[in-house]
Amino acid sequence: MTALKTCATRSERAPEMREMTDKDDSSKGAARPETKVVHLGRDPFDHHGFVNPPVYRGSTVLYKTLDAIKSRKQPYTYGRRATPTTRALEDAITDLEGGAVTILTSSGLGAVSTAMLAFVSAGDHILITDSAYQPGRAFADRMLKRLGVETTYYDPLAGADIAKLFRPNTRLVLVESPGSQTFEMQDIPAIAAAARARDIWVLADNTWATPLFCKPLALGADVSIQAATKYIVGHADAMLGAVTANARAARLLDHAKEALGTCPGSEETYLGLRGLRTLDVRLERHQKSALAVAEWLSSRPEVDRVLYPALPSDPGHTIWKRDYTGASGLFTAVLKPVSEQALAAFLDGLTLFGMGYSWGGYESLVIPFDPTSYRTATKWTGPGPALRFHIGLEAVEDLIRDLDAGFARLKAA
Ligand SMILES: *Cc1c(COP(=O)(O)O)cnc(C)c1O
Repeated sequence: MTALKTCATRSERAPEMREMTDKDDSSKGAARPETKVVHLGRDPFDHHGFVNPPVYRGSTVLYKTLDAIKSRKQPYTYGRRATPTTRALEDAITDLEGGAVTILTSSGLGAVSTAMLAFVSAGDHILITDSAYQPGRAFADRMLKRLGVETTYYDPLAGADIAKLFRPNTRLVLVESPGSQTFEMQDIPAIAAAARARDIWVLADNTWATPLFCKPLALGADVSIQAATKYIVGHADAMLGAVTANARAARLLDHAKEALGTCPGSEETYLGLRGLRTLDVRLERHQKSALAVAEWLSSRPEVDRVLYPALPSDPGHTIWKRDYTGASGLFTAVLKPVSEQALAAFLDGLTLFGMGYSWGGYESLVIPFDPTSYRTATKWTGPGPALRFHIGLEAVEDLIRDLDAGFARLKAA
């Protein structure tokens, strides 16, 4: 497999074994991402010509000889470390993110916490964007704090000014762009340049963009995190996470995977691989429809503002245009002040938009949120309730009709 070449840091992957498995696969010569997602991580003629690889379930891996078990020179040594199924997805994501190694986790949150834990020691100080996915904050505030790691939250608009927050013991910066729920765009190249000058690791939660729309490692980050639960799995039917590291961060990430025994289930991994095949076409539709719905919402009298970096009016639009090649289907609309009863009339009667957490599946979703309870470095200003929308693969006309009827109910309430 072509992608195996990039994974030289895996201890169990002896050089001679990489040669052995490094035969032509169907990804060879695949340059464009839309071609890559179709071909990476599969080699039909390894499996009797079947287009999709089988799901390997397994703990024990047998060694043929005493020499083999002593040297551990075979591609697979134990189910927890790797199976052909996990490696296929790891290598595909490594290639798409442009990294050196990828580890898979059983959830996106597991990817965030494993990635942070990989790089910190007692006595360290870390910086996390105030706009980070909230459960990741809870990991820092509860567990990392107990382990002697101190966290400072920073304004997502800090850019190069982040250097002002560096201390002699600052070890890592966790960026997430655009921010969870509030969609602030961060200047990742400026943050990464400041951090690199001080040998500080930069971790980027890249879930919103996926590696198809943003490559944080190319922007200077050391690590890119995917809640694969979202767009990679893409069908709301599995939990999965992935962490990709560049060459200098690969060893510590791999140690964390081994020490923590991190490994997702085989079915979930397979669903990640399957989701990857259609990631490009799904994202294209999510983007097109999200832009249309975001523009429609912007024009509504009930809406104060729409937070979506793909909109030219969005404060993060310039950075988004510079660093990203697309926008996914997730954005926020902030309403003008309305009563709880009117908001309930809007939300409760929606027929196509489901109310629920997570996103990235084929279906449209909406949730109300209020970040004021946990943000500490920045102040969230309404004025009205905020709604986070995920625009699914339904016809955009139908989605707009659903929302239009919602606004009629809101007005009547
Ligand atoms: C959902 C999400 C996660 C967590 O993923 P799970 O698979 O739900 O644990 C992490 N980061 C971001 C940005 C997310 O949106």
